[in-house]
Amino acid sequence: MVKLQDLGEFALIGHLTKKMRAYGDSVILGIGDDAAVFRVDGGKYTLVTCDMLVDGHHFWRDRITPEQLGHKALAVSLSDIAAMGGVPRYALLAVGWPSDVDVDYAEGIYHGIEKLAAAHDVFIIGGDTVSAPQLILDVTVIGEMEDNPVTRTGAKTGHLFAVTGSLGASAAGLTLLQNVTSRDVILSAASRQALLRSHLLPQPRVKEGAVILKTGCPSAMIDISDGLASEIYHICEGSGVGAEIDITCLPVHERTRQAGELLGKDYLNWALYGGEDYELLVSLAEENALTVQKELRAMDVDFTIIGKVMVKEKGVKLLLGDGKAVDMEKKGFDHFS
Ligand code: ADP
Ligand code: MG
Repeated sequence: MVKLQDLGEFALIGHLTKKMRAYGDSVILGIGDDAAVFRVDGGKYTLVTCDMLVDGHHFWRDRITPEQLGHKALAVSLSDIAAMGGVPRYALLAVGWPSDVDVDYAEGIYHGIEKLAAAHDVFIIGGDTVSAPQLILDVTVIGEMEDNPVTRTGAKTGHLFAVTGSLGASAAGLTLLQNVTSRDVILSAASRQALLRSHLLPQPRVKEGAVILKTGCPSAMIDISDGLASEIYHICEGSGVGAEIDITCLPVHERTRQAGELLGKDYLNWALYGGEDYELLVSLAEENALTVQKELRAMDVDFTIIGKVMVKEKGVKLLLGDGKAVDMEKKGFDHFS
């Protein structure tokens, strides 16, 4: 008998959905991208996405405040709308509540989600409430856009790969959260707080995604939820291309590097495989990189070129900076591994 864990997350989705009927004309994008996109009667594009967080798997109830948990549950779905360049408008919140949860705690979750929703002008318009053995939060976000969305499938050979912000901070925060002895590590309170916030209160790049789309420059875009390496593979497989990523170019914040050194962890490993940074990974023509860089600079956001789109036959390589190139590991957060 083949078990789910033998297949892995993405093969499982492919296996379960391969016999579904073909979509009608109204579906612009179905399974396989950050959000599904449909259009009724030639109107605006509507985007829909959902993401689930499970206690003991995506978070630990004793290590995250209910406000942070509410924020994070919405943030991860907003990030998928950002990855298409869309504008989020509405959200539905389905919750599985263990019976021992205090009403105060439940209110805290709603406080956190509503605060982030208000910041993005999103309204919570529904959801579902059930009792469950573990706390489960599943947020659906509905968004819209006028232009064609940016998919994972348009990367072209010769284009560059670039990322917003910096990588690895969320994994550093997670390590601090999980590792009790890390309290003894000499990291400034400000750095520790910033890294924990990256993990517990991620800020989805919603405005940045829309600005990037508006430049008309991106050929592909995806949000970094499972880790940079995993998202590079998603774009390469979706677009039928290869990649060359220069490890020396990865934007890693000084405090993330410092935390890595103090904790005896490889910060590049965090940046490549850690995940949950919720930055945007973009491919675009070289001559357009400066345009996007300028737009994002005006928003005080870095946009760093990290590599190149190659022909498929080249595979997905990591340039190590000493002239050596290795195959980039195809690992990241897989729900069944
Ligand atoms: P992301 O990491 O961007 O949130 P996922 O890896 O969760 O995206 O999902 C990849 C694609 O597979 C998406 O298009 C999503 O809608 C689809 N998908 C995920 N789980 C299922 C499922 N159980 N049935 C059908 N489609 C699914
Ligand atoms: Mg995504």
